[in-house]
Parts: sequence; structure tokens; C-alpha cells
Amino acid sequence: MTLHVPKDDMALSNTPVLSEASEPNGMKAVRFKASPPLPSYLVALAVGRFDAVDAGHVGPTPVRVIVPRGKSREAADAVTAIPPLLKLLEDYFGIPYPYEKLDSVVMPISDFAMENAGLITYAESSLLADPARDTIVHRRELAGICAHEMAHQWVGDLVTTAWWNDTWLNEGFATWMERKIPGQWRPEWHLDVSVVKARIGAMQRDQLASARSIRQPIEGNDDIANAFDDITYEKGAAVIEMFERWIGPEKFREGVQLYLKQHAWGNATASDFEAAISSVAGKDIAPVFSSFLDQAGVPEVSAALKCTAKPALHLAQKRSLPIGSQAKPQTWEIPVCVAYEADGAVHHQCSVLAEAQADMELADAQTCPAWLLPNDREAGYYQVAYEGDLLKNALSDRGSHLTVAERVGVLGDVELSVGTGETRASVALGLVPVFSKDSAPQVVQAAANIAGLLKTESVPGDLREKGARFIRQEFGEQAMALGWLAKPGENEDTRLLRQKLVPFVASVGDQKELVQTAEKLALGWLKNRKTITPEMLGALLDTAAEFGDRDLFNLLRTAAIQEHDHALREELLDALGSFRKPELARKALDLLFSKDFDSRESFYPLLLGPLAYAETRDVPFDFVKQHLDPLLKLLPREVGEDYAAVLPQVGGGFCDAKRRDELDSFFRDRVKDYTGGPRALAQTLEGIDLCISARKTLGPELTAFLNKY
Ligand SMILES: [Zn+2]
Repeated sequence: MTLHVPKDDMALSNTPVLSEASEPNGMKAVRFKASPPLPSYLVALAVGRFDAVDAGHVGPTPVRVIVPRGKSREAADAVTAIPPLLKLLEDYFGIPYPYEKLDSVVMPISDFAMENAGLITYAESSLLADPARDTIVHRRELAGICAHEMAHQWVGDLVTTAWWNDTWLNEGFATWMERKIPGQWRPEWHLDVSVVKARIGAMQRDQLASARSIRQPIEGNDDIANAFDDITYEKGAAVIEMFERWIGPEKFREGVQLYLKQHAWGNATASDFEAAISSVAGKDIAPVFSSFLDQAGVPEVSAALKCTAKPALHLAQKRSLPIGSQAKPQTWEIPVCVAYEADGAVHHQCSVLAEAQADMELADAQTCPAWLLPNDREAGYYQVAYEGDLLKNALSDRGSHLTVAERVGVLGDVELSVGTGETRASVALGLVPVFSKDSAPQVVQAAANIAGLLKTESVPGDLREKGARFIRQEFGEQAMALGWLAKPGENEDTRLLRQKLVPFVASVGDQKELVQTAEKLALGWLKNRKTITPEMLGALLDTAAEFGDRDLFNLLRTAAIQEHDHALREELLDALGSFRKPELARKALDLLFSKDFDSRESFYPLLLGPLAYAETRDVPFDFVKQHLDPLLKLLPREVGEDYAAVLPQVGGGFCDAKRRDELDSFFRDRVKDYTGGPRALAQTLEGIDLCISARKTLGPELTAFLNKY
């Protein structure tokens, strides 16, 4: 391949440059080496005014970060992260990096990354950071995104799926690696906890009757648009995590390596992957795998200890369904792995639950276990229903015999099971005081998530103040001690807890002092940008806006218009979408038509931000009804990026039948013209139905809890 480009530009492709020659009229011819076999979607060209930042070599591979001219200093984090992550990936796959060079290039107008062989493209906000505004979260996300795209160089590029229905294997696998590999590089980041949190998040979405299965036929544009969703990425990753736990990490890695060696420089299917894993595992994993790939939904495994004879665990499965769900029942073949303490030692054991119910004899227990965790390492893709004293014993001594990730997993399970009606809200809320002061900030946050039940639609309006008081009592002291501003010498865990807990207590706990401080700090920051640590800026501006008035709105709008930095403009637009006063939420939506903002930046925060509060949740739907035609003209409308398909989500905050029907009748025919729209509408309507049902059941429970409080 040869490119003819202006002589001052840098030209890049998948392979190294072979030669460059001057041409007339200020042009040059850049000739590239021939590439190994590549699918067409991975061919990439980049031409522009770039600087190349050298990141050294990994083995024989030269590694560079390519930035818009003059931005080299913003590449420091990328230069630090990319080489060691690449080395760890080579070790994992047991195959050297497959291409001759690795360039990571910033694409200024893009908001996603793409794994082109040897020339990975990234959004500027992901790959670069102004050193003065760098944050912990950004550094971790950068490592995750880079690990993801680099993992694709093997899974996706070296071996490419035969058809789009197996996109999940590329994306699920790369998503799995985006925590696993940075976790090896920086163990102090505790990314095993992030793995568990991501699984619980995926399960919440997968409980919907309208959720897709991981693997689905791709027959048209709607399928393509829907295929790149959280189910593909996060459920895919969670199912791979479960299989690694079940097969064992070493065997599983052997299977991955075998799959890559067998199909290098060619196409493969998920069946090829299953065959490779099965052959090293010495058992056929295909039926177990396909029960998770080819049907949507989350299994719920109930576990009960039976200690009358030889200790055993009685297991039963059903589909985990939110209260009021209309989804049909189904079963899975579930790899269930448990951990338990018996006779003074901790034991681990796995078996496959293929029937509706079965007994699992506890091989190493002579006496009844002191405690048992029905989801060892919290790696299984199933929700646990704890029978009898199982939950109490698992969490005895504040769960000190469990890892942090396991404590977070158990609390996440409890939170989910309130929504399915398995656990009473009062039991879940009763765990909050036990874990609200846990030594691990991630566990404190899991407890805060359970307390978040008190901000749902299910709490009657007149009891919200009592709910806020509960949150202040459990978390107020910690939040006040943390304050809005970082203190010298704090570790990253503490700083990350501040980011979640302080705005939670300020907003949901209605902590006046924290709100007033936020307002003061926000006004100060608008005058002097150095006053707030970058990681707290977003949360602080959002909180100030939530309680803020028209003056603050005008100041934020002016600041957003004048801001040239993409990341800061994003924070300011988020804040503009966070006002709780309905007239200000309406004013914010008008900014969608302002020439001052790119609609790709302003669309999500301004349209969906107001759904967070009861006061403003009608505003976006009313706005869309009034302005549909100009909106459709304004928004990007491409397959895979049709913003119109997001419009039905304006009903995401509704919890009553009247508004539901209005939404349905407004969008029912229209969504057929939005790529991916019909499923988006179905999911929003289902969410409203479930909210209505949850309120009926949980309302009285939460009322009883708060009245006693
Ligand atoms: Zn990917």
C-alpha cells in the first residue's frame, strides 16, 4: 500500500513504513510493508499532524504512542502502561505479539477505541491526560482500555471470528482481560473486586425479559446495533470468568493458547474455542457453555446445608426474575463452585448443576461446615439464595474469613435478591450497619449500594426524609471526615471511596453541610481552576448543580461554552444535566440545539441526566415530544451509532401506568425507523413495568422498616 500525503503530515498504517519519497506540489509518497492476512475491518490508515512518542521495545516490537502535534507530555500514562501490559499479554497467550510494530494513535473526533492490527486507535480522552488533571480513575481506565485493545491483537486479529454472531467471544474475552492483565500489573488496584462488581451489574441488566442472549444470529442492522451491548461485553466476560474458575486458571489458559495456535492467521467460531478448552480440560464443556451463551437470563441457585448424615449441600435452580417479571422460566447447566470451612480447614469444591435440583456431597467435611460460600471467589454467573443460616454464617464475624471481593459479591447478591423478592428489604438493610464501617472501602460502598434502596421509587415520598436520616447515620460521619477535598498522603482506596460516598451522603442523605460546601467549592473553581482535585470535580459540580439555582446554571453554561478541553467540557455538561429544578432541566435541554456544543457530547448528559430525580423525570419526554423532528435532524444516525435509538430511554424514570402507555404509543411505530430502536423501547417499557411491581411489593416493606427507624 502506498499513500500520497502532504509532506508535513505523518502517515501510518498497520505495518511499518518501507520507504518515503518526495513528490511534486508539497506531497510525499509513503510506502508500507505488506501485511500478514487481515480481515478488512482491521485495516487502518492515519494521516495527520502527529508527534510520535517512543515507548521503547517489548521483545523485538517497537512501541509508540502517536499524539496530535504538541501533546507529547499528555502521553505519559500511556507510555507507562502499554509496554508492561503488552508483555503480560504475551506471557498469558504464550505467543509473541503477532505484528511488526505497535502504534497507539489518538483519533480526535472518535469516542471509542478500535483494535486495528498494529495501529490501535483511541479516543483522545481515553489515551491522553493533561498531567495537571490526571486522575486515579483515568489511569485505571486507560490501563483497562489498552489491555482490552491489545488483547484483541490475539483474540480478534490473529484469530478472527468467522461471523458477527461470535463477536461476543472477541469482546467478552477482551473485556475479561481488561481487568485481569492490569490486575497482574498493579495488584494494589484490587481489580478482582471490579470483576465481581461488573458481574453483578451485568446480572441486573440480564434479568430483564427483553435482554438478548450473548450469542445471537445477526440477520440485519438492528442485530448489529444491538450486538455491541453490555451483554456481549460484560456478561461475556463474566461467563469466561466462571469457566476459568471451574476449569482452573492454568488449564483454561492452556485451552486459550491451543485455540490461538490452531487457528492463527485464520477464522474460527465459538465451537472451535469450546473444543480447545474441552480437549485440555478432559471434559466436554460445550453443553454447559451453550446454556449460558444461547439463552438470556440469570440463574438463581438456592443452597441449603444438610448435616443430618454426611454433610451435603442441597442445590436447586430457577430463573432469577425481578418482582413482577413476565419472563418464562428456564434452566441451565451451571458450574457451581463452593468454599467452606469444616474440621478446621477451608475447602473448595465444584460440580455441575444440570438438573432442577441436586445434592452436592461435601467431600472434605466430616462435620457440618462452620460457614459455606455457595459461589467461591464470587466467580460464578448465578445469584445465590441462601437458605437457613447460610447467609448469617457466611457473614459471621463480619465476613472476615471472606476476601474483599467475596464480601462485595455476597452483599451484591443480597441487593439483587431484594429485587427478586427472595430477601426481605429489612434483612438487607439490616446488613448496612454491619458493613458500613468495614475496613475495605469497596465493602463500605457495597453497603451504601444496599442503602440506596431507600432512594428508589418504592419509598413513599413522606418517608424519604427518614431514609435520608438512615443514610446520614450510617455513612455521615465517614463522609464528613473524608470531605470533598483530598488530603496529602491518602491512599488510592480512600480517594476512590470519597468519590462515591461523599456525593451519595450529600445527595441521597441530604447532608446540608456537604451540599453547601460543594456549592462554595464549585463557585470557587469556576474562578480558579486549581482549587479542586480533578477526581472530585465531576461529583462536586453535579452535587452543586443538583441543589443549585439559575445563577449557577448560567455560570456553568458560560464555562462550558468557553472550555476547549474535551474532558472538562464533559464534566460541565454533566453538571448542566444535573439540575433538580425542572425549569433549569428544561433550559439545559435547549442547549442541545445550541451551536456551542457538539450534540455527540451534549446528548447523553442533557437528555438522560434529569431522569435521576422525581422532580425532573418528566422533562426529557416532554422535550422529545415537542422537538422530535429537529432532534432527528441534529443527531448522528449511523448503524451502530444511531442516537435516535436512545430516545425511548427518556421514559427510564417512569414508574406509573399512565406515563408508560404515553411512552409506548408515542414511540411504538417510530422506533422502527431507529436502528436498534425496538429493543431499546421494549427494555424501557419493561423497566417501567418492573418499577411498578417493585413499588407494590417493596413499598410496604420499606415503609415498615423506616417507620420503626
Ligand atoms: Zn473490544
